[in-house]
Amino acid sequence: MRIRLKGGRVLDPAHGESLVSRDVELVDGRIVAGTDLKADVEYDLGGDVVMAGGIDLHSHIAGGKMNLARMLMQEDRRAFPELPGAFCGCGGGRAVPTAHATGCRYSELGYTTVFEPAMVGANARGAHLEMADIPNLDTGAYLVLGNDDFLLRLMAAGAKQEQINAYVGWMVEATQAFAIKIVNPGGINAFKFNARWMQLDEANPHYGVTPRTVLQTLIRAVTELGLPHPIHLHGCNLGVPGNDETTLATILAAEGRRLHLTHLQFHSYGTEGDRKFSSSAARIAELVNKNPNISVDVGQVMFGQTVTASADYMSQYRNRGIATPKKSIGMDIELDAACGVIPFEYRDKSFVNALQWAIGLELFLLVDDPWRIFLTTDHPNGGPFTTYPHLIRLLMDRDFRNAQLATLHKAAQAHTLLGQISREYSLDEIAILTRAAPARILGLTDKGHLAPGGVGDVVVYAEESDREAMFSTARLVFKDGRLVVKDGAIVETVAGTTHVARPEFDRGIEKDMQRWFDEAVGLKASHFRIADHELRNGAGPTILTCEGVAP
Ligand SMILES: [Zn+2]
Repeated sequence: MRIRLKGGRVLDPAHGESLVSRDVELVDGRIVAGTDLKADVEYDLGGDVVMAGGIDLHSHIAGGKMNLARMLMQEDRRAFPELPGAFCGCGGGRAVPTAHATGCRYSELGYTTVFEPAMVGANARGAHLEMADIPNLDTGAYLVLGNDDFLLRLMAAGAKQEQINAYVGWMVEATQAFAIKIVNPGGINAFKFNARWMQLDEANPHYGVTPRTVLQTLIRAVTELGLPHPIHLHGCNLGVPGNDETTLATILAAEGRRLHLTHLQFHSYGTEGDRKFSSSAARIAELVNKNPNISVDVGQVMFGQTVTASADYMSQYRNRGIATPKKSIGMDIELDAACGVIPFEYRDKSFVNALQWAIGLELFLLVDDPWRIFLTTDHPNGGPFTTYPHLIRLLMDRDFRNAQLATLHKAAQAHTLLGQISREYSLDEIAILTRAAPARILGLTDKGHLAPGGVGDVVVYAEESDREAMFSTARLVFKDGRLVVKDGAIVETVAGTTHVARPEFDRGIEKDMQRWFDEAVGLKASHFRIADHELRNGAGPTILTCEGVAP
């Protein structure tokens, strides 16, 4: 089947194409070089903007904590029921939409690939089953390590790096993961031994290892195993005023190796002013700018009701008192991390929330290189992903941004540089942030661009000066060459694939893993391991082989 998108303007920053007038051709779900052959279907785009499908590298869309959040926040689906006359019964929801609605809402915005950033080993099978239920999106999941007893035991016993690498490789393969996420390195484990705070160089009360050594050990493991995406780090002291120092020290702790800092906004707080809460975005952005090995996503706060769901129970435990509405869940499964779910409403008239909003935007505007910063709200933690078009307008339209700023809590306005920043993102930069750059940092060579060989994930937007309106409703969205959205509405749902990484590792670890599962885990190692045919209703994963690098 040959599809021709005729007369559009192509925005493909991966190949330096900035609104280039040319046709895009798709054959059997892939982009091909333009031909004179007769197309089976032709769309006349009349100068509309053509971009690759959007890629979100950090959005909580599947796994145990999202199901708990859905159960806790029934009012979310009452407040946002599915639209009458919708193409499919997707179930609705906004902060915690159903799996089906997650796929529908993302594809209406022009996204075609989304990564779940916090899959816990004991929940991996459930996360994969849920991802298979999300239509129109390719997915993948980052496995949470760094608070797991097996790893901390190895480290406390002085294990060699090769043994750590073998363990990490085994876990990635067994859980069908794509990358490694660390949440509050060692801190969630320390919480279980009654620690309530952990600094970068503070020893775990039980294992004696520090967050710095956990981080550095796993950075080495990921590098040596050759995983495509660097360590995806949710650092220490999330949300704590004064965590700016920890964040700066963490960037330096990478010692030049690749490291991705996620939801950086929540880690950029100083203690200046009479309220002892201030923005450190400028200092942190400056250090990010100086360290090309560092990439970040923002975790922008957007005003309104949402729910926070995190493996960082040390942090969620601190916040349980400010839940809105007043209810929360904290739990642990198999001691391999934890989970805290707390509903929260970000208010523009709250000093702290207004300043969080400003800090996120300061980071976006002060980090120079759009290839190393990504557009996220840490859905749903900073706000639902459906607010992305509004966020894009805030980045692209200074007057709009300043008008919003003028309505916020007065003291927060006085504490932010935002009003003095004149930068406006260009359309090219938005395409980098939401397509080209995430594809590159994830190692997905056939995504995020529109050159021959790329997957047929292609989106058409009608250009409008109101960028929020433009990005709210994609005119056309193709997933693997199939038309799934027309004029902002779903016209078909198709199954995506799940990306997994497959590193080589020393299989001598197998015996140790079996023994560990027999001794300490509620299921056998052979049951923990997820087979290829269990993914995507039998279709299996899309495997990225890894080339390890010499230590
Ligand atoms: Zn997150």
